[in-house]
Amino acid sequence: KYETRVNVESKDEIGELAQTFNQMAASIQEEDEKKRDFLSIVSHELRTPISYIKGYGEAFEQNLIVEEKKSEVYSLIVREANRMQKLTNDLLTVARSEHDELSEITPLVLSETVREVAQILKPFADEKQVRFTITVDEDTILAADEQKTKQILINILENAIKYSPELSTISIENTTTKNHTTIHIKDNGCGIEPEHISHITERFYRVNKARSRADGGTGLGLSIASQLVEAQKGMLEFTSEVGKGTTVHITLPIWED
Ligand code: ADP
Repeated sequence: KYETRVNVESKDEIGELAQTFNQMAASIQEEDEKKRDFLSIVSHELRTPISYIKGYGEAFEQNLIVEEKKSEVYSLIVREANRMQKLTNDLLTVARSEHDELSEITPLVLSETVREVAQILKPFADEKQVRFTITVDEDTILAADEQKTKQILINILENAIKYSPELSTISIENTTTKNHTTIHIKDNGCGIEPEHISHITERFYRVNKARSRADGGTGLGLSIASQLVEAQKGMLEFTSEVGKGTTVHITLPIWED
């Protein structure tokens, strides 16, 4: 670990300059460390599906898999390939939202956007017979970037479906104050313990790694959503009760003529 510091403690301009320099050096170093941690997690996350696929592929090649196990192993290979695909897509989104902080803010009818996203996710919800009830104000017009807003809603709703029991309902409502509207997405799923809530928007943070893996999770969905909300000067909040369910509150600015 390297240390770049200028040791000038004097109380004049030179001392002040040295202090500014030291603060800059420290923050660059911190960024470097974060990048390194990020890369090492990414390679670890990619290594797991690759070793599954490679291992089972070789076992097939050498005829080591008995007939009655074959279909199970095929499914595992497909599952891991899907995970890798999702992971690389999510990583691209992370990289893109880091470099392209610009948002194209246009008037966006919230109810239409919500219905479009619900339609996209319907097949996924149908698999678990999960229903959406949408009671969003028809008059609410967001001042938001369409693609970013859709991506936020997709990520939050995907989780709501993923962590909900079969045959349950997810409700989508909104409340509006003077300049903002808050979209409340409420599920009746497993809930999140209070000590985890402050961490779930961190990259790769998962409450239950095994469960998230089995569900095809990457641990990136909420970090992407939170980045995209911030890029639009909004806010992302969570209220949750273990065993009862979670509500995600997405606050975004509304369009003012
Ligand atoms: P993942 O790909 O694992 O779902 P996310 O970043 O989307 O990653 O979410 C991080 C973690 O937050 C999840 O692993 C899960 O433990 C928790 N989580 C997110 N949404 C919900 C929810 N609606 N109900 C319960 N837990 C949730």
